[in-house]
Amino acid sequence: MEIKAIRGFNDVLPEEIGTWQFVERTAREVFEGFGFSEIRIPILERTELFSRGIGEATDIVEKEMYTFTDRSGNSLTLRPEATASMARAYLEHKLYSFDPVAKLYCIGPMFRYERPQKGRYRQFYQIDAEVFGVSNPMVDAEVILMLIHFLKRVGLRDLELEINSLGCRECRPPYREALKRFLTGRAFLLCEDCKRRLEINPLRIFDCKVETCKGAILEAPQVTDFICEGCRDHFEKVKEYLSMAGLSFVINPRMVRGLDYYTRTAFEVVSYQLGAQNAVTGGGRYDNLFREIGGVDIPGIGFAVGIERLISLLPERKDLVLYPHLFIAALGTEAQRRAYELMNRLHLEGIRAEIDYEGKSLKSQMRRADKLKARYVLILGEAELAKEKGVLRNMINQSQEEVPIQSILSLLKGKILRTEKS
Ligand code: AMP
Repeated sequence: MEIKAIRGFNDVLPEEIGTWQFVERTAREVFEGFGFSEIRIPILERTELFSRGIGEATDIVEKEMYTFTDRSGNSLTLRPEATASMARAYLEHKLYSFDPVAKLYCIGPMFRYERPQKGRYRQFYQIDAEVFGVSNPMVDAEVILMLIHFLKRVGLRDLELEINSLGCRECRPPYREALKRFLTGRAFLLCEDCKRRLEINPLRIFDCKVETCKGAILEAPQVTDFICEGCRDHFEKVKEYLSMAGLSFVINPRMVRGLDYYTRTAFEVVSYQLGAQNAVTGGGRYDNLFREIGGVDIPGIGFAVGIERLISLLPERKDLVLYPHLFIAALGTEAQRRAYELMNRLHLEGIRAEIDYEGKSLKSQMRRADKLKARYVLILGEAELAKEKGVLRNMINQSQEEVPIQSILSLLKGKILRTEKS
């Protein structure tokens, strides 16, 4: 029986990879331009890093983690997100001892046991960027500016930046109580999950997609009415710095984000092309995370962009598919040998060349060159070879010329460089 991939786990095929590489390349360029360095962290971590870091009462920890016991009896988990691991690495390697401010990014797969549907997978890729060690609201706006700049650079349109403040350790508990009181009166409207959330983490109810739950929270008290002086001041400054950076935003008092560790600034960038799964990226400040995982008070802020969701919104970029620069159509054994030799020489120079390995007819080789969308075809027949020449055919405008085999490399380099620049 044929073995298929696991449900919710995707292959990224060669025809799509150009866009993936473009997105990742752009992220690296933009983030490094903002002074961020890449960090690579393991895919597997101790389960408690996530249960403590993300919070026991979150959907991720309660029901979405891929957790198993290894052969030594350790409970391990495939990372459902990257922030906790990055924070762990920052502490473990004492990155703060060099400089307390660390600007880090990482790109890679995350794993959540969610119900797969379009835009929601069990293995999905995220681009994460985090700043550790700064509580100044300047950095909140700086990170958001970087995010928006990146999204625009990859070609995303119809964006809206939504921001909110979630308060802090001091002011969130009274808000939580007020919300709980309000929703207890409407508990009959809540789904079974939300009835449970009401007891342990009522803020999660804002994320519920069930219509009656959405109705129940419609007039709920808003977190921004409860935040303390310090949080209010922080939020005002974030807004001021965002405006200073020329960014427009809307305040969404219902956006609370799915993870427990967020404090103060929370943000999402939504796109109106996406239907139900419209959040392409989300992030925020998490001044409690380090306390949970390392017992220290270090502030942090960051975001995660879902690559699959981002790509699903981008206009198709045919120019990112890598077609051969040249197909060498050879006729006869000697010509095939020369074609092979030439192809190897071109490859060493970074020119994508293909040959026919089967000794097929000229017609069938031309058909294949066409199918592969080769830009040029070099026809090497016996008559041409005798003159040390070949016929170079431009497959786009169908023009052709006789060229010396010796000069094919320099000729192609010139032509390809010209078109790849244009
Ligand atoms: P989160 O870590 O939940 O804040 O998610 C950040 C971003 O990752 C979201 O905005 C999505 O773009 C993406 N994302 C989260 N969960 C999934 C999933 N199961 N499948 C695909 N993308 C996801």
